[in-house]
Amino acid sequence: MKISVLYLGRIECRRDNLIQCSDLSQMIKSPISAILVQHPELGNVLYDTGNSPFYASEYSRHTLETYPIPEFISIEDALKKKGLQTSDIDRIILSHLHFDHVGGLKYFRGTKAIKNVLVSEAELKNAYYQVMTGQGGAYVKSLFDLDGIEYKTIKEDTVLAEDMRLFIQQSHTPGLIGMMLKSRSKGNLLVTGDTIYTRENYEKELPPGGSINKTQKEFFDNLAWIKKMERQNSAAIIYGRDFDQITDLNREGSFE
Ligand SMILES: [Zn+2]
Repeated sequence: MKISVLYLGRIECRRDNLIQCSDLSQMIKSPISAILVQHPELGNVLYDTGNSPFYASEYSRHTLETYPIPEFISIEDALKKKGLQTSDIDRIILSHLHFDHVGGLKYFRGTKAIKNVLVSEAELKNAYYQVMTGQGGAYVKSLFDLDGIEYKTIKEDTVLAEDMRLFIQQSHTPGLIGMMLKSRSKGNLLVTGDTIYTRENYEKELPPGGSINKTQKEFFDNLAWIKKMERQNSAAIIYGRDFDQITDLNREGSFE
């Protein structure tokens, strides 16, 4: 199994959006990323797809003001750097359906991957409910409701292969898929997605500010569960939006 962390540019937002703090003027770089797993049994699997190339017209003004995008790298270009085209991807896993994770789906129109998009059932239901009741927020229907897309849903922890397991978290959104990968060179890797944005959130046990979680309990319950999994599996964690970690892993290149 070969693993690559792909850097897809960044948004820049108030630090408080990621890590609760009293200074509301402080800004932070928040990376957009995807993970490519080239797997001997499962083929080329992609976890998340980044922003839409048409973000300026597709995202709401509120989104663009709250999360400006000073750097955009398309999933298509990131895959090219790995010698792959979008048509080489066999399956897409979406951690959740927020705009910065599903915006790149449009690059997969007409490919086999668009017929094989894995998401949690709770997440898919929540995203449609939100956009159809005028409470879209970070969900943008045109990004995930594409012609020809076929979703496969999971309800619970799912073993895709002996070295690749998915789990469903109840924080950030109602069904956010995390991933456990058994790598040869780095041991067990726990991919949290947006439930735990940065190392600082995790180590100092600081929830995000703002209103992304309905209660802080969701964050702390999930954090306790991840810490338990980390101990039980002697795992290293890949956080959802840790700029230094994502850019370091991207620079380092693919590993087994
Ligand atoms: Zn999100």
